[in-house]
Amino acid sequence: MDSWTIIACIILLFPTVFLAYALIQSAMELEIRATKRLGLVLFFWLVILAVIIFGIGQAGRNYFLVFLALMFLAGTVILLFPWPEGKLGWTRGKPDRVDERNIMFSRAELIPGSERYNSYYKEFPDHKAADDNFRKFDGFLKPGSYFYNPWLFGAANAGFYTVESLRSRTDGPVSSTKQDVDPEQITKFVTSWAREMGCHSIGVTPLLKHHLYTIGGRQHNYGEPVKNTHSNAIAFTVEMDFQRVRSAPRGPIIMESAAQYLKSGTIAVQIAAFIRTLGYDARAHIDGKYQVRCPEVAKDAGLGELGRMSILMTPDLGPRVRIGVVTTDLPLQTNSHKQDTALLKFCQICKKCAEACPSQAISHKDPENVGGTTQWIINQEACYTYWCKAGTDCGKCIAVCPFSHPDNLLHSIVRSFIKLSPLFRRFALMMDDWLYGRKPAEKDLPEWMKL
Ligand code: SF4
Ligand code: SF4
Repeated sequence: MDSWTIIACIILLFPTVFLAYALIQSAMELEIRATKRLGLVLFFWLVILAVIIFGIGQAGRNYFLVFLALMFLAGTVILLFPWPEGKLGWTRGKPDRVDERNIMFSRAELIPGSERYNSYYKEFPDHKAADDNFRKFDGFLKPGSYFYNPWLFGAANAGFYTVESLRSRTDGPVSSTKQDVDPEQITKFVTSWAREMGCHSIGVTPLLKHHLYTIGGRQHNYGEPVKNTHSNAIAFTVEMDFQRVRSAPRGPIIMESAAQYLKSGTIAVQIAAFIRTLGYDARAHIDGKYQVRCPEVAKDAGLGELGRMSILMTPDLGPRVRIGVVTTDLPLQTNSHKQDTALLKFCQICKKCAEACPSQAISHKDPENVGGTTQWIINQEACYTYWCKAGTDCGKCIAVCPFSHPDNLLHSIVRSFIKLSPLFRRFALMMDDWLYGRKPAEKDLPEWMKL
């Protein structure tokens, strides 16, 4: 073999090893369709190599190996080259503040015929028709819904019941002895401790006006103006289990949501309690007892972007997270939000969530300008109505998102190339559709979850 042929063989090792690794990783992720397709590609690739190496004479073999290696190199350079592209050009003002009474969880808590119910629809008559519609169905976590399963729904209810017990501990007395703290050191302590407790990512932002609801809408603060004078907000994410999310919209997704609301709630309550022992006020914001809009806070704390689904998209786990927030007076080192243009541009072309959404609640269009900021808005009434039919919190959009794949070497490589090259972004989307399906089928329940 001449030296060019040896170099060509070394170069061709890369796609071979990568294909084999992708195949093994897909099998470990229980992605049957991707495993079969990668198996086929690897098989044909090995056949081509075998024919070249063993089936033709030495001169032809050397020529074809060098040719194949050059083709591979040229393709890689073209795909990964950071081709110039237009700016995103989105306006990035402060979003409008939101009245919590208008979110679906608050509206779902209104009891027909009650004083609160009557006064709400007098003030917001436009919401009446949509809300009458979701009330026709069996309801969230109720028997009779599409995916009713007494064990899975019971387990989810048990999780939410336990979260409820944390609601009395979101705030509390502050120690009268205020400790002097160095913002850098205390931020490092809190964030490291939070990671040790199971956070996936964590950041700090100054608490801004638009983070706070204008008027409370849940049982603890209905109709009261939201007052919070804290200077900072700590936002963190916890990971949702990939296999349970991939079974969406069936029972495991709601079990997983309850489990992660509980986990994030437990972490937030502990962080807030710790800060109060230092002599600084702090409040945990947990499921059912928020004063803040968590996705907005998390975005400004540098944890991700608000994508097409209008929820937080993190760089490593996409939307497959739940968020916890603690607001406080404690002096902390803050992070800044750096726009993830590649992720938003990927969202512009992908639209997988919009196509898979059973209620067509997600927009297929470009984002809109709302309150001085460009963002995607989902139809929350359509989404919640589907939840009332399904009995779960659906999560199909989270399950199909190409950014929801596990955070391992394979998907990290793909995500870093998506950041790098606009051409690779399109290639990655094409491959995601081919390997997992444009509308990936939901995963079967594990044996122990089957009745
Ligand atoms: S599925 Fe696609 S369009 Fe939807 S949020 Fe994920 S990346 Fe964006
Ligand atoms: S949770 Fe389900 S219904 Fe709601 S937007 Fe996502 S896919 Fe659509």
